[in-house]
Amino acid sequence: MHKALTSVFDHGFLYGDGVYETLRVYKGVVFKFDEHIERLFRSASMIRINISRPPREIKDAVYKTLKANNHKEAYVRINVTRGVGDIGLDPELCPKPTFVVISKPFKALPKSCYEKGVKVAIVKVRRNFKGALDPMIKSLNFLNNIIAYIEAKAQGAYEAIMLNYKGYIAEGTTSNIFFLKNNTLCTPDLGVGVLDGITRNIILDIADELGIKSKEGKFTPEDIYNADEVFVSNTTKEIVPVTMIDDVKIGSRTGKITKMLSKAYKKKVAEHIRQGKVRSGK
Ligand code: PLP
Repeated sequence: MHKALTSVFDHGFLYGDGVYETLRVYKGVVFKFDEHIERLFRSASMIRINISRPPREIKDAVYKTLKANNHKEAYVRINVTRGVGDIGLDPELCPKPTFVVISKPFKALPKSCYEKGVKVAIVKVRRNFKGALDPMIKSLNFLNNIIAYIEAKAQGAYEAIMLNYKGYIAEGTTSNIFFLKNNTLCTPDLGVGVLDGITRNIILDIADELGIKSKEGKFTPEDIYNADEVFVSNTTKEIVPVTMIDDVKIGSRTGKITKMLSKAYKKKVAEHIRQGKVRSGK
């Protein structure tokens, strides 16, 4: 932590000018590596950063970092910044993007969060307007999410849920949101202005496989206050049940469908690890 240094003139540091990915490593295998790499390249291209390294090289760098740290259950972050250059907004000041891989041991949420659920707060801070800074860019510029999180934390909530500029439910600060109503699994559509979470996509696929009806659409706070089950999702924490939204109780424990989806998600992870190990000959 104290040896890897970056310049104070790095535009990632000066302006949050860059993109990143968070990956989860299970038993030494990176989950959904291709999908994360693909999104990293998409985010970079949306802000006109040209990642000149091929995906294979990035993957090798991640596995090398994991090996050097001897991390098997890990959190990995890949950062790509505009690079080091003089102060100023012009991208031409930075001839070469900075590329950083961080790995740290995975720290799970307390088990009780998965059994009893967590509280979330619908905050006043709105999610970035798509036309200003598209939430589909997984950018290093996280102030929108940080101020939302500060607001939620002050209310004792685990996560903030942001609305978009029109007042529709968008997403959490580091998660997508789902709810169940009338046996239909609902989640905001991408047009609302959210990140196309990789976990979100897996959950929608699982719902399909299990014969659970799903709907991507535009939803209001009323919709989730009246939901039968609610959960948030992301790569590191997977599916986290929500049993309280502001002062509205959703349930006393993790819902039945949420449990089914979590179980199926874990099964997918196990299968992925098995295949990953076979491929790498471990
Ligand atoms: N939405 C935001 C704003 C995020 O930062 C994240 C993840 O960090 C997610 C959603 C979930 O995305 P994923 O499932 O790909 O981790």
